Amino acid sequence: MPKPRGCALRGRMTDLHASLLTLDSHIDIPWPDGDDPFRESPNRRVDLPKMRAGGLGAGCFAAYVPQGRLDAVGHAEASARAFAMLDRIAAMGEPRDGILTRLCTTADAIEQAHAEGAIAIVPAIENAYALGDDLSVIARYRAKGACYVTLTHNGHNLIADSAIPRRDLGDGEIRHGGLSPLGREAVAEMNRVGMLVDVSHLSRAAMLQAAQLSATPVVATHSSVRTLCDHRRNLDDDQLDALRDTGGVIQVTAMPGFLRTRREQVPSPEVGVGDLVDHIDYVVRRIGPTHVGISSDFDGGGAIAGWSNAAETPAVTAELVRRGYGAQEIAGFWSGNFLRLMRLAEAVASA
Ligand SMILES: [Zn+2]
Repeated sequence: MPKPRGCALRGRMTDLHASLLTLDSHIDIPWPDGDDPFRESPNRRVDLPKMRAGGLGAGCFAAYVPQGRLDAVGHAEASARAFAMLDRIAAMGEPRDGILTRLCTTADAIEQAHAEGAIAIVPAIENAYALGDDLSVIARYRAKGACYVTLTHNGHNLIADSAIPRRDLGDGEIRHGGLSPLGREAVAEMNRVGMLVDVSHLSRAAMLQAAQLSATPVVATHSSVRTLCDHRRNLDDDQLDALRDTGGVIQVTAMPGFLRTRREQVPSPEVGVGDLVDHIDYVVRRIGPTHVGISSDFDGGGAIAGWSNAAETPAVTAELVRRGYGAQEIAGFWSGNFLRLMRLAEAVASA
């Protein structure tokens, strides 16, 4: 007896999701304390059991450094924190408790881990405040496995202007007018060591300058579309076009306030997977399917109805299927486009 159509569709979707390498390009970790990532935890939106349950094959975990004062003490503390967080992230790549994980620092390694049934743990740095004014630390972060550096968080640093100045730290609207001269050198050094330049959190000018300057395409690891939701953290049409023209990628993110403005959220239903995919659709129509990916910002404020933790990851694939995307496009969104950029960065570094 034939299965009802809905059931057959669901079966095909489950097969598709299971066949994909899914990569979430921005996840935070609790710091300094937090529940063991190898145990299911009600306090974490991402832990390894949830990744396994949701078929989430790879995650970029951010060593996130909050912006502080631009002085020697602040920079030393920021760097120490980033190194300690990278150690914590690396420990997630040591398998235990029956869960196979692997620390992965290249695109090939991520694909290899997935092929062998291991969850890929990919380290990253969020906020180049952790560089201070010492660019030699970039190579040391790369040696610890970091695959990208987000050039700012909220607040300007010595490298670049942020989309969101920190008045409480004395920020004006702009500090450098985009990238600083040191920031330009930092981008060159990141290119040299094979790290991706993450333009999420940057001011519009800094983002556009980084896209033009970087020897390899930049990535916005957790941003959404400003035309659909007018938030300073989102990318406008000119910025999307700059990604297209330079080969870059935007990883649309599950932060409710970046998907629908607060005004639009009331009294309409809560922000959900449909909104996330609306943003993906917009990027696809404007700059094409090879320039968009997916991120959650879980445990950093991200979470939407239907994708509120890593265990619910198949819901995103299901919505992409429902919108008519094919397997190849969905594979690109889920990791292919991001891994292409990693490979380009690695190739420049090894050249
Ligand atoms: Zn962030």
